[in-house]
Amino acid sequence: MQKSVFALSLLMAWGGSLPGLAQTAAAAQKQTATHSAAELKSLCGSGTYRYNLWNQNLNEILENGSQLPLRRLVTAQQTRVPAGQQRQFLQMAPNSLDSQTLSINAQNAAAGARLIVCSHPMPGQNAPVLLDDFTLAAGQGARRKYSGLKDRRLFLKIVNEASTGTAAYQLDWQLPGEGAVWQPDTKANPAPIKGFADIHVHHAGSLAFGGGWYWGSHREGPVALRMPACDGHNHGTVAPFKTGVKLLDAHPPQRFGETAAWPHWKDIKHEQVSAEALKSAHQNGLGLMMASLVNNQWLAGAVLFGNQQVEGVPANDMDSLKLQLHSLWEMHHNTDWYRIVRDPWEARRAAAAGQLPVVLALEVDHLFPEGDGPWKQQLHDFYAMGVRSLQLAHQYNTHFSGAAFHRDIFKPMGYIKALFKPGIGFEAGNGFYNPVGLSPLGYELIDEMVRLNMLIDMSHLSIAAQREIYAYVRDKHQGYPLYNSHTRYGPILTQAGVQELKEFVVTPETAVFYRRTGGMVGLRTGEHPMRDFAPPSGGKQQVANNCDGSSRSLAQIYEAWDAHGLSIALASDFNGFISQAGPRYGPEACPNAPPEQRAAQIAAQGSPPAGSEQLQRFHTQGLAHMDLLPALIEDWRATGLDTRNIDHSAEAFLKMWERAYDPNRTLLP
Ligand SMILES: [Zn+2]
Ligand SMILES: [Zn+2]
Ligand SMILES: [Zn+2]
Repeated sequence: MQKSVFALSLLMAWGGSLPGLAQTAAAAQKQTATHSAAELKSLCGSGTYRYNLWNQNLNEILENGSQLPLRRLVTAQQTRVPAGQQRQFLQMAPNSLDSQTLSINAQNAAAGARLIVCSHPMPGQNAPVLLDDFTLAAGQGARRKYSGLKDRRLFLKIVNEASTGTAAYQLDWQLPGEGAVWQPDTKANPAPIKGFADIHVHHAGSLAFGGGWYWGSHREGPVALRMPACDGHNHGTVAPFKTGVKLLDAHPPQRFGETAAWPHWKDIKHEQVSAEALKSAHQNGLGLMMASLVNNQWLAGAVLFGNQQVEGVPANDMDSLKLQLHSLWEMHHNTDWYRIVRDPWEARRAAAAGQLPVVLALEVDHLFPEGDGPWKQQLHDFYAMGVRSLQLAHQYNTHFSGAAFHRDIFKPMGYIKALFKPGIGFEAGNGFYNPVGLSPLGYELIDEMVRLNMLIDMSHLSIAAQREIYAYVRDKHQGYPLYNSHTRYGPILTQAGVQELKEFVVTPETAVFYRRTGGMVGLRTGEHPMRDFAPPSGGKQQVANNCDGSSRSLAQIYEAWDAHGLSIALASDFNGFISQAGPRYGPEACPNAPPEQRAAQIAAQGSPPAGSEQLQRFHTQGLAHMDLLPALIEDWRATGLDTRNIDHSAEAFLKMWERAYDPNRTLLP
């Protein structure tokens, strides 16, 4: 139900006035003090849960016997509680805002209920707090404001104490200023900020996928604690499936920095963005980062199935994103160098203070699902948590947009998703281009993102959707900036690359979308051979394409985009299941070279160029982790690439973002 409809029905129910609608603020601490720990647990539940695939809490079912199972508390939902029963709701991720309002609207007058409202810390922390305990007569509703919720999870219990009649309610959790546009403080030093941007990093990837895939943690703290030794079996090995694939199965024990296997450019299971590595990258040229919050419910499901899930870490996309957000805000508050920024001027001030500006973005498949309440309210919820960009789809179609066809393995999952979600289509088309474009809801989402000055990420969208979005912002939104957070260039892919990536690329046609809207493209730094960049007539190839799978392959993409006049950033996709660019020297040099050419390719590299300490490691380690990202650009320079475009990409990103705020913006030539 849309909130406006809800408000209307509320008014109608009480004939235009609202008698009996309680408006009391809760007297939380006082009540808590009068309850023993055991009483509190019986009122508020334990707050611990093992998430399962049906959005319920198995242990709560087991603990509570015949009780109805615990449900996820979302922005808006309906519930029915039969006589003699109770229903419990719990937020799966902590709140970022301190105060929220609960609206509860009776949908019938068959029975009333007792309502118990609590807040819980994260599992394993201290006790719950009882916020409220009140009774509603049959047909009566309430609207109550609670505070002290920051970093805590809300809990609601509805008890129908009557002997007959089912109580039915519409619940709505509202944030202060919901939907209001963030008003930036535009006071900032206008001088360009320094450094390059990495616009696609899964900074909290260790908390994605049920918490059971990436071993190690991005958080600050002693390395031994944050990056503990991995015995090879204690995380996402998909062990029950015995895949036989080295990257997925269990592995020999590893220690960060002490064994050659971690960090490693081919690794997809161990933290690649430790706090130390990020700090080092920042000191060596990383001027701005986009932290992409990511999840995939299928993979999280596999992690649950493999019994690798971490307690208290949700598998559901939306809850997983919130938990990741919480952890990044924690980093923002606990360090003096990591700053989440919500507008370009805030970014400028952070950079001027020597801090790393971090912009939050979303990358999931089940974006703002219908079961979680009105999509706009969900968007506002994430906006309030500082999110400033998102992709309308990821691997599968959403009710906003078609997703780019990409690896074939995703197609059956997209098909199955469409079976369960009638509002989300699936069309096979020719198997290469997804015929599904932007839906009417997708247009509404674009309008709302423009209203909120959010950046529209075209990554992973079908070409059909990209064309529609471009035409729309060109004609209706004065060339509002479009960017692609992580992508490659179609025309220089190898045959195998074309088959794998399909329409998940930039083409000469879509390059125009980014150039004319003042947007930008993020160069995915993963391993892959490329065909030679063919310069336009009169031009000259800068970097010889003679070391497949290394920085030289990536340089081909860079040169092609540079020739298109595109603004280029890096898109490492660290912690995102990407084997990264391989080295040019040492035993793993030129990893994608055809076997018969490899020796010649290695010989063609000559001796390693001098440079920073990071570059010396990059020579044999490749792009193993965030610490070595600046060395990729250094290596490009050593191979003859003109890196001026990317050297100032942090500033280019802010220029793009400021354009989203510019009322006088026009389409560029
Ligand atoms: Zn491991
Ligand atoms: Zn992606
Ligand atoms: Zn990603």
